[in-house]
Amino acid sequence: MMQETLKHAAAMAQHAVVATPETIALAARHLRAGDLVAFPTETVYGLAANAFDASAVEKIFAAKRRPRSCPLIVHIADAHDAHRVVRVWPDSAELLAREFWPGPLTMVLPRNEAIPTLVSGGLDTVGVRLPEHPVARELIREAGVPLAAPSANEFMQLSPTAASHVARSLGNRVAMILDGGNSHAGIESTVVAISEQGEVTLLRPGAISRARIEHVLGAKVPDAHWDKQGSAPSPGMHDRHYAPRTPLRLVSRQSPLPDGPGALISLGTPRPGLPEGLTEIVLGASPEVYAQGLYAALHSVDHPPHKWIALEAPPQQAAWEAVNDRLRRAESR
Ligand code: AMP
Ligand code: MG
Repeated sequence: MMQETLKHAAAMAQHAVVATPETIALAARHLRAGDLVAFPTETVYGLAANAFDASAVEKIFAAKRRPRSCPLIVHIADAHDAHRVVRVWPDSAELLAREFWPGPLTMVLPRNEAIPTLVSGGLDTVGVRLPEHPVARELIREAGVPLAAPSANEFMQLSPTAASHVARSLGNRVAMILDGGNSHAGIESTVVAISEQGEVTLLRPGAISRARIEHVLGAKVPDAHWDKQGSAPSPGMHDRHYAPRTPLRLVSRQSPLPDGPGALISLGTPRPGLPEGLTEIVLGASPEVYAQGLYAALHSVDHPPHKWIALEAPPQQAAWEAVNDRLRRAESR
């Protein structure tokens, strides 16, 4: 009977269900049965599969149309479970885990062999994160296994920060979507690489600033280097990523806007004298508040009649590093 219900649920397009102890338990059963579940985290919504089960993980790549060379992040509910995912745990990992877990920090470390190479894009390393969102942690605990989960959107498209965003793009490819409200960090986790010797480098700026990580370590955290073969230090960090379908460009307050119907995303305050008929969304002028609203704002205007999206560029300052990184990728064609 349970099997029947599970099969039926997986066969039809999914609307999100509100996360409750009962729906979380059902989602965990889907995961144990090798199916996909979309779930909320504090950064963006994730698309989860049992990280130990290569055929379940395979479904993530198929659902997202994601190249197999792009590694997934493995999510755990308790720092003690890190050893199920990684092979070494240098002091710097311990320091960062104590300070930032649970939270939006992913650490890339030598991979435990229990994790299939498919999860890590064929690499000998794997990314691990302990999310803060209570629904995420409850789901991982109930499933009883670490969960491999990239963002729950099609490859290269906008990341989802609400259950409705997932339902629209991947609704018919998942067994279940758990709704846990809007993601409050609003952009993806910060990803650092940690060598066996404990050196920390930055692979992707994110919700936790480089300055905060440097402060905890008492050392500079440089960008990760490209290897001799010239492959990217973090496969999956494509130039065009996190992008709306509608052409997007960065503008200043003084720049003239393109012709025709479009949307302007302003920084801090509305633009005076905005022509009639344009859509305007004003995002907060601090990096945290801005990041929180960015993807939701893009989702809300990424459709006709809008023919363009103009985004007022934030200042080129360290505090805006993660936001500016995403905007540069969103603008890239
Ligand atoms: P997503 O979960 O879609 O937000 O993206 C996860 C990103 O984390 C990947 O695209 C990589 O850029 C990075 N990442 C995850 N695992 C590794 C790894 N083993 N080595 C380098 N980068 C990684
Ligand atoms: Mg993603």
